[in-house]
Amino acid sequence: MTNLPPTAAALLEAIAFTWPANTRLVVGTPRARLVGFLMRLWDAPPAAVTLGRTVFVPDAAYFARLSPLEQAALLAHEAVHIEQWRQLGARRFVWRYLREYFRTRLEGIPTHHLQRGIDLEREAIAVENRVRLALNRQKSGEFLV
Ligand SMILES: [Zn+2]
Repeated sequence: MTNLPPTAAALLEAIAFTWPANTRLVVGTPRARLVGFLMRLWDAPPAAVTLGRTVFVPDAAYFARLSPLEQAALLAHEAVHIEQWRQLGARRFVWRYLREYFRTRLEGIPTHHLQRGIDLEREAIAVENRVRLALNRQKSGEFLV
């Protein structure tokens, strides 16, 4: 693990979710806020933005208010984007993301729509939801023991 919040990192570890190596989480710095501002021009305010191997969280107060479980789910979502950047490379990632972005805009679909949104987002949302489900199951399992 890199510099993830310890509780969220422990939750991910507990469900055997591997956070990618050599990555950075940047929360609330001027640079993170700038990235968030630029993305907001295109879309709804992002909770986090992944560029290459760096995850930017523009709003530190928002991130701090999330429960460790929701932080872990958000980080799992961004981990998928890190892997997409790695697999596709910067040029292909950005090209594909933009192409899908304009498709959703033309079709009047929210970019993060679960079935018809940006394909790279759908993949990340599916993993995020699986992680949230696994963590919730684990949490409720503690009460059954
Ligand atoms: Zn995303």
